[in-house]
Amino acid sequence: MEEIRSLKVINELGMHARAAGHIVGLAGKYKAKLFLRKDAREADGSSILSILSLACPKGSEIEARIVGKDAKEFMDELEGLFKNKFGETAGGHYRPRKKIMKGFPVSPGIIIGKAHHLDRFKTQIFHRKLLNRKEVDGEIDRFKQAVDMAKEQIQKFKSSMSEQVEGYAFLLDTHSMILEDSLLFDSTLKRIRKEKINAGWALEKSVNKIHQLFRQIEDDYIGRRMDDVDSVSERVLQNLAGVQPDSMEGIKEEVIIVAHSLSPCDIVEINVSNVTGILTDVGSRTSHMAIMSEALEIPVVVGLESATDMILDGDLLIVDGNAGEVIVNPDPDTIISYEDRKKRYNRYKSAIDRVRHLPAETVDGYKIRIQANIEFLAEAKVAIENGAEGIGLYRTEYLYMIKRDFPDEETLFDDYSQIARMVAPNPVTIRTLDIASDKMVSDMQTSREDNPALGLRSIRFCLNERKVFKTQLRAILRASVYGNFRLMFPMISGLGQFLEAKRILKGVMRSLDRDGVEYDREIPIGILIEIPSATSIADILAKHADFFSIGTNDLIQYALAIDRDNEHVAHLYEPFHPAVLRMIHQVVKAGNEEGIEVSLCGEIAGDPLSILTLLSLGLREFSLNVGSIPLIKKMIRMIPLGKVADGLTGILELPTSKKVEDFVLRRAKSLLPDVFEEDVFTYRPPGTA
Ligand code: PEP
Ligand code: MG
Repeated sequence: MEEIRSLKVINELGMHARAAGHIVGLAGKYKAKLFLRKDAREADGSSILSILSLACPKGSEIEARIVGKDAKEFMDELEGLFKNKFGETAGGHYRPRKKIMKGFPVSPGIIIGKAHHLDRFKTQIFHRKLLNRKEVDGEIDRFKQAVDMAKEQIQKFKSSMSEQVEGYAFLLDTHSMILEDSLLFDSTLKRIRKEKINAGWALEKSVNKIHQLFRQIEDDYIGRRMDDVDSVSERVLQNLAGVQPDSMEGIKEEVIIVAHSLSPCDIVEINVSNVTGILTDVGSRTSHMAIMSEALEIPVVVGLESATDMILDGDLLIVDGNAGEVIVNPDPDTIISYEDRKKRYNRYKSAIDRVRHLPAETVDGYKIRIQANIEFLAEAKVAIENGAEGIGLYRTEYLYMIKRDFPDEETLFDDYSQIARMVAPNPVTIRTLDIASDKMVSDMQTSREDNPALGLRSIRFCLNERKVFKTQLRAILRASVYGNFRLMFPMISGLGQFLEAKRILKGVMRSLDRDGVEYDREIPIGILIEIPSATSIADILAKHADFFSIGTNDLIQYALAIDRDNEHVAHLYEPFHPAVLRMIHQVVKAGNEEGIEVSLCGEIAGDPLSILTLLSLGLREFSLNVGSIPLIKKMIRMIPLGKVADGLTGILELPTSKKVEDFVLRRAKSLLPDVFEEDVFTYRPPGTA
């Protein structure tokens, strides 16, 4: 079926970007295809750029041709759009103004599309005093039913998970566990009974109490737990109030979701054929929603603070998931420049994707090993898909954070043996518990330390809490037979501590021998070098360790006395500080002299400029965040390592971070213009959130 009509551009501004955006949005709703002709030129009605290329000022006559089944309805709506001046007001202005918003980039990519609000505001709760026993019993029943309903809803989401996100099913299990947690469940029941208040009010009080407890703990993991507690309690409150959250089922055209916050269940519901991007007011790069949304491979920006206020339904948006930027109602020039940027990014990404399973080998034949840093079992699969040649850092804290009690040996063994199997024959470097004593939520009697970063944490905590430590070591050793494990102790500040940790490990090995349990007797035992004292005595430590891994996230913090989580001093967190480079070099040298492997697992390994610097310091093995692996591999495959090393000679003599960074960038641009002149990637200061 074909429909042809002549349409006149009657709005003041002519067929500019916003008008073209409306046409493209409309074209997305219909199956039929639209062609617009002016004079001898024809444009594709599904491309903003193509429509703009017709250059139609006010008064232009255009021939619209629509081919396909629903051509007539499409044409009627298109004609209405032209007659309605594409929503332009009398003064020739569009109501909305261009705005630029900044948030945290979570999932990369660039998309241009229409905003769709998803109402995720908090359910209103009212205080009600219960008058008698009957009302109290009734409220208790209502609460229990609302919780049961929430459990069923979560189960339903779990069973409908798409392949993309199914690896994150455990996050929904965490939600079910939170629903049963006594701090939430029992304490709410207790409040209803004792304080004689309605269930919603009682639940809110319990959640506030948990907030209070967690607020004292400055830690990312805990922050994530709080997100989960909030989203679980919100679900119960909705069930109590009998309200249905705004669903994504009705979305039929391509949209960018704008919401106050989203839960992991929301992410499960997302259909990427309609949802092309996500924006939220709240959230951090490490929230569960953020981690899961990365798997959807659509641009996501969180923490925009006022996105739901500033963006109206239907607004045209540009989402730059690389830079964490959102442009609301962009002008035509901005759209054209982002269309171009998007094309270049997509081209670049497919070039990167093509090499991610090829070895990270430089053009002059040096083999570099690229592994992944992960925090959950599910990330191992994503890491391998992204081309990781093993797991260079498995942070094992997660299982200690989701439950109130310490996990038992079987729970740990189950997790560790799965990861061993999943990654074999490639290695998994498993780090023992790196946790601060005040992160321990086991009995909620948090003993607050004034200076947790310098306190009883990590290996110090483990050497104090032998039972906890030995349970983990037993689980690691038992799981070691299923794959290729390396064991690493974090926060080692001196030889005595390392030998003590090894002594305990040997004791655990002996007890396994007594029990006749198999384990890898040759398991390499290494040190996470992240304290300046350890870099100073790297030559001594190297005589007793099988490998070193340099943890620059903490090493920079301790070397420069900069709290890595304190935004007031974030500008002083300098990965290119000459002292940091010298420390790294010292460790590499000590390791090489003793013939042990030295790798680096700090976040800086995901930064192209840092990688060049680190290669020039002699490092050949890196472990980095999963998302950066393809880019880094691609870059390494373009590098003539000999020339890089020659070009960066003298780097250790430079006096300031700025001089180092400028020096490396200059060399990088001349050696690898394709990577470093490419402005589709925004280089974030490595190590910062
Ligand atoms: C580090 O400190 O560099 C590191 C890799 O560990 P984390 O970020 O877990 O402290
Ligand atoms: Mg560390």
